[in-house]
Amino acid sequence: MNEVKVLDKTFRKSISHDKIMETVARMAADMDRDLMGKDPLFLSILNGAFIFSSDLFKMLQMPCTISFVKFASYAGDSSTGKVKELIGLSEDLKGRNIVILEDIIDTGLTMQQFLPVLEKKKPASVRIASLLYKPEAFKGSYSIDYIGMSIPNDFIVGYGLDYKGYGRNLKAIYTVI
Ligand code: 5GP
Repeated sequence: MNEVKVLDKTFRKSISHDKIMETVARMAADMDRDLMGKDPLFLSILNGAFIFSSDLFKMLQMPCTISFVKFASYAGDSSTGKVKELIGLSEDLKGRNIVILEDIIDTGLTMQQFLPVLEKKKPASVRIASLLYKPEAFKGSYSIDYIGMSIPNDFIVGYGLDYKGYGRNLKAIYTVI
């Protein structure tokens, strides 16, 4: 399936499922190497990161825990840069080694607004992991510790990423034509 239609838009396959899984495995190995013995707490950003988080979490070998938080900063296919909502951060983060799991960092503004919220909870450390990264769009002033793949500044769907709620269940990643 090289082309798919999601609602009114057509997308072409740009990253195969095999390539994604290879990338997730490399990220998991890097995290195991860096965080073994540190009892990390993974914070998965819903909705988009749920598939990435699930695949990654199964590959981790070290003892670790995961929790899920949610905010929305994206309407349709253009980033608004506004965090409208943040729910689910009920964990005690004090002294914990946190790894934030994002599906994609685009402008980086969502994460930029989330980081001070986290810092207030006095974690021992905060690392950021994103499966995908759009360097041309990035406006953040923080560094990303684990980047799966850098991609062009085009709108994509699949592997958890949606267009108006649809397309998340595609196994590969597809770029809008
Ligand atoms: P940022 O604040 O970094 O600009 O945006 C982050 C969020 O925007 C991501 O978590 C994701 O939900 C959404 N996003 C950014 N780029 C894309 C894209 O190409 N496709 C989809 N489906 N969502 C995107």
